[in-house]
Amino acid sequence: MAEEAPQSVVRRAEELRRQLNYHNYRYYVLDSPEIGDAEYDRLFRELEELEAKYPELVRPDSPTQRVGAEPLEEFGTIRHRAPMLSLGNAFDESDLHAFDERVKRHLGLPADEQIDYLMDLKVDGLAVSLTYESGVLARGATRGDGYTGEDTTQNLRTVRSIPLRMLGEDPPPLIEVRGEVYLDRREFARINREREDERLPVFANPRNAAAGSVRQLDSSITARRRLDIIIYGMGASEGVSFDRHSEMLDALEARGFRASPQRAVCHGVDETAAYYQRWLQKHGELSYGADGVVVKVDSLAMQSDLGQVSRSPRWAVAYKFPPEEQTTVVKDIFVSVGRTGALTPVAMMEPVVISGSTVQMATLHNEDEVARKDVRAGDTVVVRKAGDVIPEVVTVVTGKRTGNERKFVMPDKCPVCGADAVREEGEAVRRCTGIACPAQINGRIGHFFSRGGVNAEGLGPKIIAQLASKKMVRDPADFYFLTKDDLLKLERMGDKLAQNVLDAIASAKHPPLRRVISGLGIRHVGGHVAEVLAEQFGSLARLAGASEEELADTPEIGPVIAQAVAVFFRQEQTKELLRKLRKAGVSAQPAVAAPRASGGAFAGKTVIFTGALSIPRSEAEAMVKAQGGRATSSVTKSTDLVVVGDSPGSKAEKAQGLGIPIVTEDEFRRMLEQSD
Ligand SMILES: [Zn+2]
Repeated sequence: MAEEAPQSVVRRAEELRRQLNYHNYRYYVLDSPEIGDAEYDRLFRELEELEAKYPELVRPDSPTQRVGAEPLEEFGTIRHRAPMLSLGNAFDESDLHAFDERVKRHLGLPADEQIDYLMDLKVDGLAVSLTYESGVLARGATRGDGYTGEDTTQNLRTVRSIPLRMLGEDPPPLIEVRGEVYLDRREFARINREREDERLPVFANPRNAAAGSVRQLDSSITARRRLDIIIYGMGASEGVSFDRHSEMLDALEARGFRASPQRAVCHGVDETAAYYQRWLQKHGELSYGADGVVVKVDSLAMQSDLGQVSRSPRWAVAYKFPPEEQTTVVKDIFVSVGRTGALTPVAMMEPVVISGSTVQMATLHNEDEVARKDVRAGDTVVVRKAGDVIPEVVTVVTGKRTGNERKFVMPDKCPVCGADAVREEGEAVRRCTGIACPAQINGRIGHFFSRGGVNAEGLGPKIIAQLASKKMVRDPADFYFLTKDDLLKLERMGDKLAQNVLDAIASAKHPPLRRVISGLGIRHVGGHVAEVLAEQFGSLARLAGASEEELADTPEIGPVIAQAVAVFFRQEQTKELLRKLRKAGVSAQPAVAAPRASGGAFAGKTVIFTGALSIPRSEAEAMVKAQGGRATSSVTKSTDLVVVGDSPGSKAEKAQGLGIPIVTEDEFRRMLEQSD
């Protein structure tokens, strides 16, 4: 049974929660932090330690609760106190005028009356409801059918721009805030890159990705994706009242919520049309996807007079941007071969401009997709592109068929190397089995040097393909041995470009270990898994030598990944690649500094800090690393030293129990000085 926390500790924990929530708000909502990451980490860990020692101090609004909890079997349901309605749509300006006229007719106002409308962008995400009781986030739910949603409280807690506790004094007893959870374009692209690396199906658009992330049974996965929220209104509430919708959003903003900076009050329908036109031109510049603007009657008294019709409010309408789709003709369907050997059918089309860019190729994903959509060469098709999404064929306009279209047949041989292409049981994808397949080799090399790998900016796919076709390179290691004379043998290669390529390669000679690991393109190992492996094993040699059991013992690494990694490093081809990389002088920077063979006050030592130090915790840890040691966060039998600051936590006691040496901060500093 844990001991009861003294009053001073209770107050300190409260203060830490308040400070951390405030700094979180500065960082994620206002995008204007007041303190550095190291200072934030120090406060965070102090709270973490207090909560570990006195579990009764853990509160739902503690920032330590954002990390995700135990996976769920399924979601519970939550009944919305007030239904979450869906908006009616307007598709052109006459629809907008019709809406304005309906509003005035229902309110009994003259036709020339100018209504105030609150305008906002319609974020392409997932609508959620957040219930705050006395200022603390108590429940979060998806919209569901509008009346009952899924209880996704654990997942929504991980969204940094959702306050766990409202700012300010005297919070209302109950308030239900509504908003749209979304992923910005960059985060969406990052998640899809990672999924491609891990050979998982990519999300078709940011909305699906956001919905998939909020509806994750394992909230630690949600926590790894940087979801954001923009709030747009309120449901049920007690103890607050406003005259206008815009005023309500201003008040919520003052309480620490993130409302849209693009919102504006327009006077009369003509101003709303101008707002729409402005954002129709500019919405591509937003960091997130928007599929239209929302027009709301600003007066809440008018809103309540207008009420709702079936499931939509009469006081609001979504004025949609035209879909980013175009019609074009498929000239041919060819098959591209990726680094994993996957054969992907691609439609080659008459060039067409969609949302500002020319599109002439669209992915057809796999043979089942081609069959499902029945896309044939010669077909007229509807093509879609949204944001950073790969263009895709939405549907075939079958009415335009002439009978001369050619059906697509997936080849059973690789179109590049001629080896058998095999589709394994349960897989959607057919893969080339050729060991020396040039498409796979170039793809693997390209991946190694890409942003997902060691990031040699300036070494593009064209140069890689040229070098490979001349048999000057067979794997990534060969690049490190290239000379300027070698490069000058290539077509259209000048002295300056050759130097740029050499510089790019040289810049990737000492990449972070996690980049090398993800660059190797091991099955199921994307950016995040690579990071976990880098932290656990510390060097490529140690990772290569790890047994399947050791791998599976690593946090977050399941048996499937463990097997894939072990199999990869057993390959003769892999061993040869690692030997060549070593010979080329390529060395990865470990995630945690490896113990130095000699020297360094903490060479080979594992050190733990507890209590408040006079310097940020991260700085102290960096000092240990610089002296060849490792700084970890939990006391185990393999801990070598515990450094205690003011009011140390339970770690000091545990260390004492295990007979681990304990020193003060001053003693720690003396140990550092002696080493210089
Ligand atoms: Zn092949």
